[in-house]
Amino acid sequence: VNVLEITCQSAVSKIMVGEKLSLLSNYLGKGRTIIITDSNVRRLYGKEFPSAEVIELEPGERSKSLETVRMCYRRLVDLEADRSVFICGIGGGVVCDITGFVASTFLRGVGVGFAATTLLAQVDAAVGGKNGVDFNGYKNMVGTFRQPVFVLSDIRVLGTLPSREVACGLSEVVKTAVVGNDVLFAQLEAEVPALLALDPVLLEKVVTACARVKTAVVEQDEREQGRRRVLNFGHTLAHALEKTSSISHGQAVSLGMVFAAEYSVRKRRLPRTAADRIIRLLERMKLPVDFPENGRTLCEAVRKDKKRSGDAVRFVFLDGIGIPVVERIPLSELEAAIEDMC
Ligand code: ADP
Ligand code: ZN
Repeated sequence: VNVLEITCQSAVSKIMVGEKLSLLSNYLGKGRTIIITDSNVRRLYGKEFPSAEVIELEPGERSKSLETVRMCYRRLVDLEADRSVFICGIGGGVVCDITGFVASTFLRGVGVGFAATTLLAQVDAAVGGKNGVDFNGYKNMVGTFRQPVFVLSDIRVLGTLPSREVACGLSEVVKTAVVGNDVLFAQLEAEVPALLALDPVLLEKVVTACARVKTAVVEQDEREQGRRRVLNFGHTLAHALEKTSSISHGQAVSLGMVFAAEYSVRKRRLPRTAADRIIRLLERMKLPVDFPENGRTLCEAVRKDKKRSGDAVRFVFLDGIGIPVVERIPLSELEAAIEDMC
């Protein structure tokens, strides 16, 4: 088991990569625990859950709503949970996001921990203490910062992930390497077949390396006032793409990264060869690299996706692999680049 710690002003969060789900109870403490999970995860791994009451959600992004949060509060009240309760989310990013939000608001906040069961959750969503639900069509519009006491990442459970979910996770793995670790990036290039085959030894190393990048970034900037923004690499366009087409988050992030790399080349920041390495790696991971839509529709989506008004956006450029730079650019400039390139 590889143990990492995130030490923030608010709390310490312990990340355990390679720990068994069946040993989750060792991390729960003596008080009462209530589990939040989804029906797929419960069906597949319910036998390994610690004995505790379970709140079961419907799988999928559509559950990431205030309606679901309200249902969780209702169940917690029915179960007569008090401030001493510990809430444990077992599942992917959706389950962890909802669980984190519920735990940080119920009775003004109770303890929370996660057993992350998707690659995406293990490398990204469950680590770092951001949670949230979607609102009015905007992703993660309502949420809080709250560090989980622990994140347990059992690699073995990734074996049952549908390929679409594996792709989503790999996309965030590439993102993490691109913004935070050029050595990891080179390892990924060298190990594509083993990664696609979900080789557990390799995955444990990769998940640990990604968690390490995230840990370092979050420790510097828990509340995303500065450095943490680099983790949004590829996401400006991705969010717009997700809204206008039916592609998954991972596919959208792949395209968003291709765009950000190309844009960085045009701005004479990133060498052409580095952009080509990124695109080639995504392709070899069977992630999309060609834009399905024309620039005009995308521009509109980007404009609509901006949560706040004002005509500048923070965009994550690259000066090299492992060297992200966040810059404010006028929305009009971004739109011109999209129309040109897509
Ligand atoms: P995310 O992709 O954000 O991590 P979800 O929580 O929506 O998101 O999980 C994606 C899907 O994968 C859901 O349908 C969920 O039930 C399912 N799932 C989660 N973990 C596993 C697993 N270990 N094996 C198979 N399916 C899983
Ligand atoms: Zn993402």
